Amino acid sequence: MKSEKKEKKKKLPFARTVANNAFALSAIGRASPIYLAVYLGSSFVYGILDFLSEGYLLRRIVNGLNQGEDLASIVRFVAILGLVSLLCYVPLSWFWNVISPIQVRRVGAYVEKILFRRASEVELACYENPAFYDKYVKAMDEAYNRILKVMYTLDDLIARVIALLANSMLLFVIDPWLILFGLFPLLLGFFRRLENVAGHDQETAQKPINRRADYVKRTFYLGEYAKEMRIGGMYRNMLRDLRESYRDYRAVIRKYGRKKAIYGYVQRIGLEVITVLGATLYSVWSALCIGAEAGGMSVGDCIVVLGSIGTISYCLNNLVQNFAEFGEHALFLEDVRYFLDYSPKVVGGDTPVPVRVDKLEVRNLRFRYEGSETDTLKDISFTWHRGERIALVGSNGSGKTTLVKLLLRLYDPSEGELLLDGIPAKEYSLSAYRDSFSTVFQDFKMFSMSVKDNVLLRPAREGDEALVEAALRESGAADRIERMPSGVHTILTREFDDKGENLSVGEQQKLSLARVFADRTPFVLLDEPSSALDPIAEYTMFENMMRATEGRGVIFISHRLSSAVLADRVILMADGTIAETGTHEELLRRGGLYAEMFHRQAENYLGEEVRNHE
Ligand code: ADP
Repeated sequence: MKSEKKEKKKKLPFARTVANNAFALSAIGRASPIYLAVYLGSSFVYGILDFLSEGYLLRRIVNGLNQGEDLASIVRFVAILGLVSLLCYVPLSWFWNVISPIQVRRVGAYVEKILFRRASEVELACYENPAFYDKYVKAMDEAYNRILKVMYTLDDLIARVIALLANSMLLFVIDPWLILFGLFPLLLGFFRRLENVAGHDQETAQKPINRRADYVKRTFYLGEYAKEMRIGGMYRNMLRDLRESYRDYRAVIRKYGRKKAIYGYVQRIGLEVITVLGATLYSVWSALCIGAEAGGMSVGDCIVVLGSIGTISYCLNNLVQNFAEFGEHALFLEDVRYFLDYSPKVVGGDTPVPVRVDKLEVRNLRFRYEGSETDTLKDISFTWHRGERIALVGSNGSGKTTLVKLLLRLYDPSEGELLLDGIPAKEYSLSAYRDSFSTVFQDFKMFSMSVKDNVLLRPAREGDEALVEAALRESGAADRIERMPSGVHTILTREFDDKGENLSVGEQQKLSLARVFADRTPFVLLDEPSSALDPIAEYTMFENMMRATEGRGVIFISHRLSSAVLADRVILMADGTIAETGTHEELLRRGGLYAEMFHRQAENYLGEEVRNHE
């Protein structure tokens, strides 16, 4: 991928650095323009107040005393300055403590919204591409903080520029040569940049290590791993992984920490010894050895210089740091922008899906997963009519789930096409096309939300409660839900609610099936929705399903061929192709692979029954 090359670069071109930082500021501006303006405006006020109450105040007092100014006028100046400061700090302090935290969250919500929207649009294949997935995780981790950090750095920069300009003018008025000492820290910028590059490399190297360690932590506290972690010695494997990640972490810190220490040390020496000590010695020499009368510094100015030179070198050093930070922000924001600018490959057109859809045609479909050596699906063709029930059967790995994912356009085929009522699926709006299907996956997920939300999988509307209750009755989950104290409003799982309910896998499966009944889509896709049910419950469930989905097209995947009897047509898949197709009776009569599988399963069940009765 193009992005992998970029990752190796330590520094972005200047224009890109500016663009990435500008992107962050414009994101804050879009989320809360007033916040951005007040935040940066307050830096001006702070910068000016700081200068007035430090360098300028000192010189005013020392010179005033030297020139015999009367005490009352000095006190008046100090009092006015104090009053202005107090008046400014009251609204600023309110802004920092009350307004700012709320606005920071608002910016966070805005950034999350644009990221989550893009995350829901990128095709499933992206999750299987490690380079992309890494950027995606980094973007999710970093975006919000980095975007705010750009504003904090700019704020710092404004305050420093004001202090720098004001103090430089002061020094220039006292003795222009002093400016040379002030400029010296700029030369140290080179080491500052090296230090920041090492910092970025360290963070990048730490990320995968931290992710691994976080994964181990999750396996200890998440309920879904609790059983496996208690049997056998899995927890020892996890602890081993944790030890290894600690060892890798130490190696990373040693490698980059040493570099950072050296670069930091060089800067300290330059700053403390050359700038501060140099300017101090020069000023003391000018005041003592030359003297004010011979054109040297007055003792008062010498004291002012000692204060200001420190401020100037500190500000310059900080400015260099600020620019280095902008460079670092830009590097991180590059991932965020890559992710946001990514054009999803699976996209739709503008054609609206008709209110009534009659058939879905699958034509010469061929598909290969990214990075895979062989095609998972080969030359698949069939037509699925509204109202037709198809049982999709075949051994594990024959491509059934992949076909379902292609029908939903979670992936696009490498060759061939899907036609909905004769029009290529790509021409329909993607969300409207997917809305034509109700789907229950084998690895369906329950959300930590109410039963109602879990059934609807969309924001609830007026009258939805009755719809959900009816759907739960159809799917056989109503009894269990009615026993819950808050009925359909009960929250699933106890993660966020002590009164939440945990459902068994079979109960969850019934609940996920209710999703199909709550929707009136023309097509229904069921990918082994019944694996946790016993054979009789499964048969009953499929019978209910067939009755309740009358008039809708259904494709269901089931390992138990006894359910295939209920279908209008059976499609048997083997090795990514359609091996046999026809009604259950036709396929039995044909005596091929389907008949063989059916008889073998029947024998097994029969055997099981006999064993149970022995
Ligand atoms: P079935 O549903 O019939 O059990 P699948 O469609 O899940 O079969 O899988 C078909 C083949 O595709 C298997 O060999 C499987 O390993 C492979 N496969 C499934 N998902 C992926 C993926 N995300 N990346 C690469 N190969 C995959």
